[in-house]
Amino acid sequence: GVESQLHAVTEQDVMLPRRSRTAHKGDFGKVYLLAGSVGYTGAPVLAARAAMRTGAGLVTVGVPAPAWPVVAGKLDEAMAHPLPSSKDGDLSLEATELVQNRAGSSDVCLIGPGLGRGNSAAAVVRTLLRTVHAPVILDADGINALAGHIDVLDERKGLITILTPHDGEFARISDEDISGEHRLEAVRSFARTHGCCLVLKGYRTITAFPDGTAYINTNGNPGMAVGGSGDVLSGVILSLIGQGIPCREAVPMAVWLHGAAGDLCAREMGEYGMLPSDMIARLPQVLERQV
Ligand code: AMP
Ligand code: MG
Repeated sequence: GVESQLHAVTEQDVMLPRRSRTAHKGDFGKVYLLAGSVGYTGAPVLAARAAMRTGAGLVTVGVPAPAWPVVAGKLDEAMAHPLPSSKDGDLSLEATELVQNRAGSSDVCLIGPGLGRGNSAAAVVRTLLRTVHAPVILDADGINALAGHIDVLDERKGLITILTPHDGEFARISDEDISGEHRLEAVRSFARTHGCCLVLKGYRTITAFPDGTAYINTNGNPGMAVGGSGDVLSGVILSLIGQGIPCREAVPMAVWLHGAAGDLCAREMGEYGMLPSDMIARLPQVLERQV
């Protein structure tokens, strides 16, 4: 029945695999981020750091060239590659092949944090969706690139695509009513119609899969309502998928782990002053408790 397909996610549902003593970095995922632009250099850094603090084996970030020095200068462990961009700093179409190759040789890709809403950047995103067979997580401007082009999402049926919109981003790609009691059904309906995993973020984030199964998160707090918070979540999802945890388990777990890091921050420093970077700093202890 419909009710048996709605699961409330609590600590008991979050179990991370123990690491093999003989593991090497290739066992924990080669993950790729296409993110950042001039004026939005924090988003790729937060997402990449969150992915690394969640245990990703190898993180590569592709950033439009004008934003690249800032992003690369902040990341020690991740590789950052500058990408061709137009005069106004947007990712240009010339970047397509390079990004396709890098994305194609990765275990999973995250597309969108801080990427900007330029026409050419959006066109590159849509080409990637059409050609990359690895799982793709779309956040922020990666989601915005689907506005008016939702058919591109439908063409990926059978592949793994995860969307992580907040209400505003969801409204740009869907006409579904997400007010009040319609919220859960709207998320379910979108996931079913478009054959994707949809994570509608906010108070009690809802995650739904194409078969109608839905998860409602139970932790987190309003201290997490601050710019950069969602970039951390997308990095955690990227990392868990890269480590081979099935999408069905990885996404609801990532949402809970992100909330747990937020709750730890709120306890230690309060909801007013906590920052997404504080949440990243607490991911290791949150994860360690769930192994
Ligand atoms: P974004 O809007 O992309 O920065 O994402 C915000 C993140 O913070 C999402 O993961 C939300 O679920 C989380 N968040 C925002 N407000 C709240 C809240 N009131 N309670 C719990 N989580 C929240
Ligand atoms: Mg966001």
